[in-house]
Amino acid sequence: MDGNTPITELKGVGDKTRKLFEKLDIRTVGELLDACPRDYEMFKEPLKIQEAACGDVCAIHAAVSGIASERRIRRLSILHVNVADETGGLQLIFYNMPFLKKTLRPGGFYIFRGLVRSKAALKVMEQPKIFSMEDYRKLTDRLVPRYALTKGLTNQAVQKYVKQALSLYEFRSEYYEASFLDAYQLVSRREALETVHFPKDYDSLARARRRLVFDEFFEFLFLIRSSQRLNKELPNNHKMFETADTVRFLEKLPFPLTKSQNKVWQEIREDLLGESCMNRLVQGDVGSGKTIVAVLALLMTAANGYQGALMAPTEVLAVQHFETIQKYVTEYGLLFCPVLLVGSMTAKEKRAACEKIAAGETNLIIGTHALIQEKVQYRSLGLVVTDEQHRFGVRQRELLAKKGENPHILVMSATPIPRTLAIILYGDLHLSVIDELPVGRLPIKNCVVNTSYRPKAYQFIAGQVAQGRQVYVICPQVEGDGDDAEGGLPLENVIDYTEKLKNALPSDVQTAYLHGKMRPGDKNRIMNQFAAHTIDVLVSTTVIEVGINVPNATVMMVENAERFGLAQLHQLRGRVGRGEHQSYCIFISADEKADSMERLQILNKSNDGFLIASEDLKLRGPGELSGIRQSGEFSFRMGDIYADAGLLKQASEAVDRLLLTDPDLAQPEHVRLKAHLKEAADTSVDFRSI
Ligand code: ADP
Ligand code: MG
Repeated sequence: MDGNTPITELKGVGDKTRKLFEKLDIRTVGELLDACPRDYEMFKEPLKIQEAACGDVCAIHAAVSGIASERRIRRLSILHVNVADETGGLQLIFYNMPFLKKTLRPGGFYIFRGLVRSKAALKVMEQPKIFSMEDYRKLTDRLVPRYALTKGLTNQAVQKYVKQALSLYEFRSEYYEASFLDAYQLVSRREALETVHFPKDYDSLARARRRLVFDEFFEFLFLIRSSQRLNKELPNNHKMFETADTVRFLEKLPFPLTKSQNKVWQEIREDLLGESCMNRLVQGDVGSGKTIVAVLALLMTAANGYQGALMAPTEVLAVQHFETIQKYVTEYGLLFCPVLLVGSMTAKEKRAACEKIAAGETNLIIGTHALIQEKVQYRSLGLVVTDEQHRFGVRQRELLAKKGENPHILVMSATPIPRTLAIILYGDLHLSVIDELPVGRLPIKNCVVNTSYRPKAYQFIAGQVAQGRQVYVICPQVEGDGDDAEGGLPLENVIDYTEKLKNALPSDVQTAYLHGKMRPGDKNRIMNQFAAHTIDVLVSTTVIEVGINVPNATVMMVENAERFGLAQLHQLRGRVGRGEHQSYCIFISADEKADSMERLQILNKSNDGFLIASEDLKLRGPGELSGIRQSGEFSFRMGDIYADAGLLKQASEAVDRLLLTDPDLAQPEHVRLKAHLKEAADTSVDFRSI
């Protein structure tokens, strides 16, 4: 059994399970083993009721002292059970589990595990898991992996299949040399994979993770550094001349550029007019106005008779850019003839677009990664712009560049990366920074609250909608994964939450949902309806995190805010406060522990993306296994450029050293490494389609 063996070869995986795994993008044994747990649970020794702190997930060993009669609210059955030990009492609340009335014996001792909350003067535990002492003993003091799941696939089942896969998998021999493993303190790949799924303790888990993250960084950096183009300065094959078009466009814009936007535009202009080919990264916080700067560069390119391409990571964003630019064309008479090229277009529409591109009938091509497909032939590609660059892999950037003869490259990113890390991640790209927001924006009002605030929040949302504004609500999951009874913090999902909101809001409020698993055409339709304001409230996963600009939206409410990295929450918040109206951001946390609240308070205090990222890191400490990905939008599976910055530097150093001593990996000791890196490059899915 190797990485490519289909999972149906595992005992017990039939057609039904295969389909469930497919939903999680797992088709092969290799993909199953690569899908590391999203976090781990520690089943600690049971506590006395008095010791169980509110806000913690705990286990208690207690006797059933009374079972109240079952209550019903519409289709929901609620059962209250009182339990006690010698230190006090606690109330258990069960939903839709009426049969427990019969199975729980009054006077019987059980272990109950769940989140402890306070309700009035009472300690309560909702939907706890119930264990016998004997069963619980088997779990204690062990880290139990928790996998990403889908309805119908339980955590236990995934554990079982992973265990089986690990026992049958034929591990290939290690591809790093022993001295290399020593120098960077890495465990073997085999040990790392086994441990990450079934860790003995935190220390070995940390070592396993270190190896897997190192590999990710090493493979990524090797790919960039060994690429020819990025290592030398190329002559300017598309030398441009000054044009009045950009000046006229700037005069017609209803606002002046900020000082920062102007400075960055001058840097780009000088590149385009200069002797060498442009290779530039523009960094600017959300809402700093990067699009205009890219449009100026594209306009100069078009005025000089070349084609420009603008690639966005999602269809929703590509369509939005297309419409913005189309509006500029009609309002300001710009010389653009733009075409759109995205995956959800019909074959006929795509063909028509491709013909225009090849014939040179268009000077501006806007789209998704459809722009880099083989059949697209450009006539005279002079500039490629990738928006929200962190969503793309290096290979995609290069594939687009190869469509022309050394076109100029401009990449735009809103992810705040300290300079030292930017140099590692982006190689020799020249860096431009837009470090101010347009004037006249009202600062967003933030609040960090617990779930009991929801009724108030819904009222507030209804009020904003009544005033003609629009609202985003973010949930971490698409659908319930059937894992609610596990005893962790409850996770909200888009599908159920939309229903909940429809019931809670006045009936004339139009509520709809959006998530990454929908068909692209459906996503575009919903997004267009939201932009056109036929939808008031949009419940969504983080698919809307990148780039979306709907200035009439004034409320961003994030459920389970504790699950997201601060940088990501900052991006989400950037979707509001884009127009003239006062905007609000409501972060709802299901985790009431002080450190979790303190982390979220950072967002309350600052609007500066760089500061937020560094403060978050200080609080968590590097390499901490918190399960929260700071920069969820980077294409690393496990590594986190902030939390693992030290490891990133080491991997960078290792790649440089390797390329210095044996750039072609021709030496015999590098045979296995060469094969591995080649395979990694061929299979790297470095575009995360969302
Ligand atoms: P981002 O940097 O997040 O990509 P956008 O380019 O989408 O930001 O710009 C956000 C909003 O700010 C847009 O509605 C845009 O028209 C507006 N904008 C951009 N530059 C300025 C400016 N100098 N003054 C006022 N508004 C601006
Ligand atoms: Mg943008």
